[in-house]
Amino acid sequence: MKKVTNPRRVITKKPSHAASKNGGAGPRRLAGTDPRRVRTILAKLDDAYPSATCALEHQNTFQLLIATILSAQCTDVRVNQVTRSLFQKYPRPEDFAYANTQDLEADIRPTGFFRSKTKSIQGASKRIVEEFSGEVPRTMEQLLTLPGVARKTANVVLGTAFGIPSGIVVDTHVQRVAGRLDLTRNTDPKKIEQDLMQIIPREKWIIFAHQLIWHGRRVCQARKPRCLECNLERVCYSQDKVI
Ligand code: SF4
Repeated sequence: MKKVTNPRRVITKKPSHAASKNGGAGPRRLAGTDPRRVRTILAKLDDAYPSATCALEHQNTFQLLIATILSAQCTDVRVNQVTRSLFQKYPRPEDFAYANTQDLEADIRPTGFFRSKTKSIQGASKRIVEEFSGEVPRTMEQLLTLPGVARKTANVVLGTAFGIPSGIVVDTHVQRVAGRLDLTRNTDPKKIEQDLMQIIPREKWIIFAHQLIWHGRRVCQARKPRCLECNLERVCYSQDKVI
């Protein structure tokens, strides 16, 4: 296998560039975000991953929130191993909120960063119990008031649990695959999310993130992307591409 030295030669048709169409006036659009190309990518993702969804095991919205907090810097597989017994030991928000902190730290230790995660989980659980009547709030604004909850976690909860397309989840896989597909040239997750929200139809925001995450795990892996097995290969001109 060899790395692509001239990546643009591998695509069947060079993507158009909005800047060249308007003589350079107006906002500069990435070649990769040509609407027809984006539609092709979305169709291919639908072909490959028609039912992509969140891999974190959960029985309710609160469990999804806790699992998502635990998933920071940790694999979903490891989180699922931990939460199977964790959710039996702590079935309700108040059980997490008022648990012995050291016990909880020990219980979630395998997921890493266990002290800060315990602080987030107990802080979020207390606020849910004391401010939201034990229910996980359903708006981005309210979710962001929970300790340890930033946009990524809020997007996971709103999208997966409530079906609300509040934004696009940007984790390490979305960041990498969206970059390789030239859908963004930013590296800051907030800017990546804004870029993607501008080119992906709102009704696709939820599944699109899951599809990129699945693609990143199964095919477009960080170190050795499996380009020969990738159904996006014809539209991908990433310098990371291996053929
Ligand atoms: S697996 Fe290869 S061809 Fe497919 S999106 Fe990733 S880098 Fe591109």
